[in-house]
Amino acid sequence: MSAEPDGPEDRLRRFATIWSRAVFPATSTSLTRPEFEELLLPLARRLSEALRARTYDAAEGRAVGAALVEAHCTEPEALSRALDCVDAYLVLYCGGDGHQEDLRARAARLQSAMAAGYAEALRQRTLAEQEAIARAALEAQGAVARALHATEARFRAVFEGAAIGIGIADLDGNILQVNGALLRMFGVTEQTMLGRCVVEWTHPEDAPQVWRLYEELVRAEREHYHTEKAFHRPDGTVLWTNLTVSLLRDADGNPQYQLALMEDTTERRLLNLRLRYEATHDALTGLPNRTLFFERLEKALAAGDGQRFGLCYLDLDGFKAINDSLGHAAGDRLLVEVADRLQSCATAPGEMVARLGGDEFVALTTGPDTESEVDDLADRIMNALVTPVRIDGRELLVRGSIGIVEGPAGERGPAEVLRSADITMYRAKSAGGNRYEVADAEADARAITRHGLTTALPAALDRGEFFIEYQPLVHLGDGTVRGAEALVRWLHPQHGVLGPDRFIPLAERTGLIVPLGRWVLEQSVRQAREWQRRHGGTGPLRVNVNLSPCQLTHPGLVQDTVEILERAGLEPDALCLEVTESALIGADDDLLKPLRRLSEMGIDIALDDFGTGYSNLANLRRLPVRVLKLDRSFTQGMQQFPADPVDLKIVEGIVSLAHSLDLAVTVEGVETGAQAEQLRVLGCDTAQGWYYARPGPPERLHELALVDATG
Ligand code: C2E
Ligand code: MG
Ligand code: MG
Repeated sequence: MSAEPDGPEDRLRRFATIWSRAVFPATSTSLTRPEFEELLLPLARRLSEALRARTYDAAEGRAVGAALVEAHCTEPEALSRALDCVDAYLVLYCGGDGHQEDLRARAARLQSAMAAGYAEALRQRTLAEQEAIARAALEAQGAVARALHATEARFRAVFEGAAIGIGIADLDGNILQVNGALLRMFGVTEQTMLGRCVVEWTHPEDAPQVWRLYEELVRAEREHYHTEKAFHRPDGTVLWTNLTVSLLRDADGNPQYQLALMEDTTERRLLNLRLRYEATHDALTGLPNRTLFFERLEKALAAGDGQRFGLCYLDLDGFKAINDSLGHAAGDRLLVEVADRLQSCATAPGEMVARLGGDEFVALTTGPDTESEVDDLADRIMNALVTPVRIDGRELLVRGSIGIVEGPAGERGPAEVLRSADITMYRAKSAGGNRYEVADAEADARAITRHGLTTALPAALDRGEFFIEYQPLVHLGDGTVRGAEALVRWLHPQHGVLGPDRFIPLAERTGLIVPLGRWVLEQSVRQAREWQRRHGGTGPLRVNVNLSPCQLTHPGLVQDTVEILERAGLEPDALCLEVTESALIGADDDLLKPLRRLSEMGIDIALDDFGTGYSNLANLRRLPVRVLKLDRSFTQGMQQFPADPVDLKIVEGIVSLAHSLDLAVTVEGVETGAQAEQLRVLGCDTAQGWYYARPGPPERLHELALVDATG
């Protein structure tokens, strides 16, 4: 086994330790806690393997549940503690690097299999115990028979002294004799019992074969049968029994009586039901929990032709804020109130509401007409949330976002359906919340790729999957190449080359933009130094590098940049950092300070995509900016001939304002010679665009610059 401090084996061991600590107090085992942990370790391993196995095997979960009964974990608390622990820690410690939602779904199914295995094992054990008692009783019956022949007195003693209920009837079912234990079970007197007929004792929950077995016995076609059977008590309650009925023959072997031995299992049955209830319901709200919901969803998705399902996945808006500001007790009360309201929205047959955890709820509707029903269900839920909730004298507004998935049974699995609902719910949230959205396959696919890309990003940087293309910046006056903008790309192993628009926003959201941006800066600065070394003489070639808003607020920005320049031996004035206009709108002094420091060192700052952010032109004076990069949309307006006169006026105005503030103007997206000429006439300084070159490898720029310098 691995001796590494944090290998899978250690994690498994840790899970077994936590599990044993949780369950041990609720066992009646004679083992010590460490011994008990050793006993759980192989069970933990089974769960861990079943969790990650390619296909789900309910038998594994059931076996673990059964093993818990074997290990004497039969106190009322034991199962729920074991399940809680699996719920909280199995995926965490044993999930490996699998897909979280799939792992959670698998863990939920394993829990329900454990609960089933546990209940079944408990039932089997009870039956086995009953069997032993019944066998003893049958032996007693032998004794009874003998005693019948011998002395009536001894028979009486055995009959009356038995702890289990004993009754004797003739073969027509007329009850002849019962003992005290049986009378106590039924809560009746001997008088009311005697003379009644066995066949009156039907109960709606009788197993289908019970009365067939009875008929066979009284026809002497079988010697005995064994079953679980319910009886009505006169007080209206139900008595559950383990019942063994035997045929009694006379001394000559002719069938004469039937003998019933029964043990009261009502309590144990209730306990089992309670255990099952606890394992499948949320303790706070009493709603069905994730486990039960998955069972129902699975069933709904496996239903036959013509059956459909509709799912509303609800997440409360801003619940965390309520929890944080009013405390968890208030948050809990809010959840209980929401649960009650949701419950009243889904009362029709085939509908259910469950709490998945936290402030996430689901409502499910099944049947042939969910296409029209599911929208109604979502409307009912939204309406139910409208009235504010009163807590501690405050009126709390409750809002929620719902993702709806609807479709035919038999096409998708529960994990996939839930993932789609989750994605759709997030779509409703990002559209402002307090609304519902309906899942569509295309949006799902986009979100899934986005999710896939996000999770693949960190490793991509380590694996060297990013590369940089450079696009020349050309002087409009003399046509020489003055530098280039560094544009990052990702060579994704499956999706091929991805442009920055596909992954920069994701990198910003996950924070990876900081190391990625630093890498781009490092590469580009080194590249600029390389161009200068090979291309001395004709003026320095500069490099433009884009900075994200997150990098701007990162405390290491100035220090990192200085170090990178020094290490490469590049002068600061050969570097231009591009910051988008939108990142600087409303920027305060704190945000501008690092930019100011960089600018003071001689690094140029360019305002990228200028003209898209509606910034106040008068504000430009405040900013430590030396270059305006006019957005592509202005250049596009000049594509037709003659160019739009309003566009021309605007560009002319911006250029003259920029020049009066001592700012240089670069134009982006120049695609034709006519545009270039127009922009030159308007006074723009530098241009960038496909007319000159598309972004390309660094060597290309070197060639271009040489051609320009010589030609
Ligand atoms: P940007 O800084 O405005 O970069 C210019 C974009 O316009 C580039 O798209 C470029 O390929 C494209 N372009 C250049 N000439 C033409 C033309 O003539 N016509 C048209 N239609 N497009 C042209 P790209 O490479 O897809 O980059 C998109 C944006 O991604 C960049 O916009 C920049 O904001 C961001 N970006 C690129 N690299 C980095 C990076 O290393 N770090 C950060 N933070 N952002 C980056
Ligand atoms: Mg740029
Ligand atoms: Mg730009």
